[in-house]
Amino acid sequence: MIRWLEVRLMNVPLLDLQAQYSTIKDKVRAAVDHVLESQRFILGAQVSALEEEIGKFCGVPFAVGVASGTDALLISLKALGVGPGDAVVTVPFTFFSTAGTIVNLGARPVFVDIEETGFEMDPERLSAFFSRECTFNLTTRKTVHKASGTVIKAIVPVHLYGQCADMDEILAIAQRHNVPVVEDACQAIGAAYKGRNAGAMGDLGCFSFFPSKNLGGAGDGGMIITSNPKLAEHVRLLRAHGAHQRYFHSIVGFNSRLDELQAAILRVKLPYLQEWSNARHENAVRYGMDFQAAGLLSQVKPPEVLPDRSHIFHQYVIRCEMRDDLQAFLKAQGIGSEIYYPVPLHEQECFRSLGYAATDLPRSHAASKETLALPVYPELSDAQRGHVVASMAAFYRGQR
Ligand SMILES: *Cc1c(COP(=O)(O)O)cnc(C)c1O
Repeated sequence: MIRWLEVRLMNVPLLDLQAQYSTIKDKVRAAVDHVLESQRFILGAQVSALEEEIGKFCGVPFAVGVASGTDALLISLKALGVGPGDAVVTVPFTFFSTAGTIVNLGARPVFVDIEETGFEMDPERLSAFFSRECTFNLTTRKTVHKASGTVIKAIVPVHLYGQCADMDEILAIAQRHNVPVVEDACQAIGAAYKGRNAGAMGDLGCFSFFPSKNLGGAGDGGMIITSNPKLAEHVRLLRAHGAHQRYFHSIVGFNSRLDELQAAILRVKLPYLQEWSNARHENAVRYGMDFQAAGLLSQVKPPEVLPDRSHIFHQYVIRCEMRDDLQAFLKAQGIGSEIYYPVPLHEQECFRSLGYAATDLPRSHAASKETLALPVYPELSDAQRGHVVASMAAFYRGQR
C-alpha cells in the first residue's frame, strides 16, 4: 500500500534543472562572483576562453559567442549573404527560429520533408527538390528556384533532438548545387556523425545555450563554429555592429554578444557535458528495454538510433498511439512530457503566405501528430523511469 502510494505520488518532470544545479552550485557561484569582481561583462576573458574550449570540443579552429541560438542562425545566414530575394532550404519539423531567421533576413524559406522514420532532413527529398524545382545558372554558378526566381543561398539541416541529419548525403547534394550549408545544431552539441562533430561539418554550425539545452546557461546564449577563417571573421564582425575596430564600421552588424556571466557559467558546465549526455543516452537505452519488457512496442515506437551517429538525446521522442490522451494521462500521474512540435512550420499562421498545404509535407505533419518527448534528463532515477513506463503500460491496458 505504501509502495503503491509512493509510486502514485512520484513526480517526474520533463526536465529537472534544480537536480543538475545542486551538483555544481558552488562552482557556478564562484564563477559568477569572479565575473562580478572583475566588472568586465562584455567580450572579455570568459567569452574568449569558452570560444576556445567549444572550438576544441568540436574540433574546429573558430568559435564565436553570440546572444542566442536564434542569433547564431541569423548571423550565419547573413554572413552567407542571405537577404531579400533569396531562398533558403530547410525542414518544417523544427523549432521556429530555423525558419524565422530566414524570414527576418527578408528571404524565403523553402521546406523539404523529413525522413520516413527519423526526424531529420531527407536527402532524397532535398535532391528531388533541386532536380525538379531548380536550375543551375552556369554564368553566376548559382542555383535558382524556378517557381520564384530566387537564388538558393543556403541549406539548413537540423540535428533534431540531438541526432545528426544524414550529412554526407546532404553535403554532397549541397556541393553539387554550389550551395553552402548551415547546421542548426542548437539541440546537438556533442553529437557526432561518422566520427565528425555536429556543427563542424557544414560551412557554419549553430549552437544554443538556452537553459533547457544539454549545455544550458542562466539565460540566453549561443555560438557559431566554423573552419573557414573568412566566415569566422565575418560573423565576428556581425555580432558587434560590424566594427573591425571600435567606431569604425566596415559592415552593418548586430548587437549580439554572449555575456561574460553566461560564458563563465557555461565554462563550469562544459566539462560535465559528455557525462550528462552519456547519462541521457543510458536512459534512452533503458527506456527501449523497458518498453519491450512491458509489451509496449506495438503502441510505442522508440526513437531510432542509427549506428553511424552518436545521439545526445536532447529529447527522447517516441511515436505513439493516442498521443494526446497518453499525454493527459501521464500528466495526471505527475509525469511531464511535451510535444516538439505540435504545428510544423509550413502550417504556421505566420507562414501562410508561403502557400503550403499541410499535406505538402506529410511526414512532418504526421510527426507533429504522433510524437511525444518523455523525461530523459541525466538525473532521472530508475524509479522515475519505471513510473513513466508503468504509467504508459497502465494507459494502454486501459484502452483495450
Ligand atoms: C533552441 C533552438 C534554436 C534557437 O535557440 P535559442 O537559443 O532559443 O534562440 C534554434 N533551433 C533549434 C532546433 C533549437 O532547438
